[in-house]
Amino acid sequence: MDVKARGFVGYMRTDEALDHFLKESQVERLGAEEVPLLDGLGRILYEDIYTMVDVPSFDRAAVDGFALKAENTYGASPSNPVVFDVEGVVEVGQLPTTRVSDFKAVKIFTGAPLPEGSDSVVMLEYTNQIASAKIEVVQSVTPWKNVSKQGEDLKKGDKVLISGLLLRAQDIGILASIGNSRVKVSKRPRVAVLSTGNELMEPAAVLPFGKIVDSNQYTIVSAVKEAGGEAIILGVARDDPGEIQSKIERGLEEADLVLTIGGTSVGQKDLVPEVVKSLGKPGIIVHGVSMRPGAPTALAIVKEKPVILLPGNPVAAFIAFFVFVKRIMARMQGIPDNVKNFMITARLARRVPSTVGMKSYVRVSVRELDGEYVAEPIKIAGAGVLSSIVKANGLLVIPEDREGFERGEKVEIIVLRDTIW
Ligand code: AMP
Ligand code: MG
Repeated sequence: MDVKARGFVGYMRTDEALDHFLKESQVERLGAEEVPLLDGLGRILYEDIYTMVDVPSFDRAAVDGFALKAENTYGASPSNPVVFDVEGVVEVGQLPTTRVSDFKAVKIFTGAPLPEGSDSVVMLEYTNQIASAKIEVVQSVTPWKNVSKQGEDLKKGDKVLISGLLLRAQDIGILASIGNSRVKVSKRPRVAVLSTGNELMEPAAVLPFGKIVDSNQYTIVSAVKEAGGEAIILGVARDDPGEIQSKIERGLEEADLVLTIGGTSVGQKDLVPEVVKSLGKPGIIVHGVSMRPGAPTALAIVKEKPVILLPGNPVAAFIAFFVFVKRIMARMQGIPDNVKNFMITARLARRVPSTVGMKSYVRVSVRELDGEYVAEPIKIAGAGVLSSIVKANGLLVIPEDREGFERGEKVEIIVLRDTIW
């Protein structure tokens, strides 16, 4: 394919297309809902979280041993043990009843509150029981040794989590530890997905000759869910303007964002742009972007809602979703614009050519070799080879102004899978 856009007036630079679209469409955060804390997992936090309590909320033992005054242990060693009277015990979850005075010790367990008067804990290992209520200490401790001090983990007023964060297990835990049983998260964007094409069928092992499975519906609906959205499945529209129109209209009624798949080029059966244009102003804002795969992507606004026209090519649809739809959905959920994908540095196993003027999204398989990451571009026959995005665990982006990258060059790779096989 020549860089001169086939049938397009011209390609708009990918970044420019996205920025332009975000500005024109004024996509905004959708609002919040409050959910039970455990339902917050995988959701986007709606607000900054500050702690109103210290964690831990009291000084507590960090080991099993004896609570005492550190200064009484100074000089203690195996050859010069210091003797203490043991006055009681504090179990976890109990209030200490004894006050510790000079050369007195209280037996204590990890997590139990430190008794008043004590300022440190000697580990059990550094003590010997010499009578029923007497121990000798054979190693000295400094004040606050083996003690988790109040507020050591989090201090009252600390910012604990930031708005826009995707909540993971550890975040749910910290929210619980500062006393939350519910959490305010961003509303899930409702995203309608419509496939178009006379050739498309539901999955089946045997298809009538010439038909193909509507795999994109499955890929894109799942990508919507992975990106935090709620998918509205519009199914398949035949290559018929009336059918495409009524399904898009249903999408516009029910969803915050409409995705169409296929029929976006300038071929005879590429009816979707024409239908979208007929639905009202401003309609299509960008048609044709400088990316490969994904060039026939179009970005539109209809009835003040974004409508993204993804190419039918399965890989192109996936990449265009990644580049445009994820960002729009991020905006809707209040994920800041400057949040970036996690990248790793890898050495390129082969030279990768690219056409100047096009931004290439190269699927790579990253492995570990001799202590470094090596990225192997996945050999493909065309943009439609779905196995390439399944084999890939990374994405190499080659900017518009580069002719490619050389073999052995160190490059930045976007991580697509978070484990390495
Ligand atoms: P189109 O953009 O409609 O010309 O489609 C480009 C290529 O992608 C064609 O080979 C289509 O058969 C294929 N394709 C289109 N839509 C889908 C879909 N929903 N699932 C799988 N392949 C598709
Ligand atoms: Mg088609």
